[in-house]
Amino acid sequence: MSEQQDPPRTEDVDGQPLVEVVGLAKAFGGVEVLRDVEFTVPTGSVTVLIGPSGSGKTTVLRCLNALETGDAGTVRIGDVSVDYAQHPGKRVLGRLRGQSAMVFQAHNLFPHLTVLRNVTEGPVVVQGKPREEAEAQARALLESVGLGGKADQHPYQLSGGQQQRVGIARALALQPELLLFDEPTSALDPELVGEVLAVMKDLAVQGRTMVVVTHEMRFAQSVSDQVLFMDGGVVVERGEPAAVLTDPREARTRTFLQRVL
Ligand code: ADP
Repeated sequence: MSEQQDPPRTEDVDGQPLVEVVGLAKAFGGVEVLRDVEFTVPTGSVTVLIGPSGSGKTTVLRCLNALETGDAGTVRIGDVSVDYAQHPGKRVLGRLRGQSAMVFQAHNLFPHLTVLRNVTEGPVVVQGKPREEAEAQARALLESVGLGGKADQHPYQLSGGQQQRVGIARALALQPELLLFDEPTSALDPELVGEVLAVMKDLAVQGRTMVVVTHEMRFAQSVSDQVLFMDGGVVVERGEPAAVLTDPREARTRTFLQRVL
């Protein structure tokens, strides 16, 4: 088996879940946007974060990825643990960031680079991987997201759905323990949503560990192992999708679902 086809590293540390968040808190300019957020993500599982706009979902993802530093609480991904209350330094934050890769809403490919270069830049520049190896890996990944023929094109030559699939290939090229998706389909025309969700479903079937912020309730229902409903910076309810989405315990969850379903 070639390197690019190797399964992701999915070993649990001491049989613990891959991701563990305890007591995560964050304020912006004195306004509390996350309070006592706690959850775990078992290796090989898919967690979906739902909730109204402004409830803190993106901030949770960004604190997992150390794009944002929490004010308090711990985040552990695999064997890297950060205690935000201890004002962690750049080095440990960099290690935490290296554990995951984020797929953003849209439009964050480098417009002046080819699709291939967009996928190889991270491994080559950030991880120091030899270019030839990175290119072989990138071509295999592009193939796996159905874009084998697009390597030499530029992002503007692709549809929004194809661009998002390049974004997914780019995240995978970093060989992260954890994939983070921040509303990956919400900027797409409706007819392009399905192709991106199909790639994400494939990844779930392959056993990738994923945390996904999305409003796609059917994806949450059919692909996720766990749904977290957030409101006002707290996790109001979490559980299996069938429970949270069809028979929620909390009135706030019910109200939200009535609006979006
Ligand atoms: P969601 O993803 O659920 O829409 P966010 O995590 O983006 O919510 O935002 C939660 C709250 O934090 C919102 O009120 C938002 O305005 C605020 N917020 C997010 N990022 C910043 C920032 N960099 N500076 C100030 N406020 C922010």
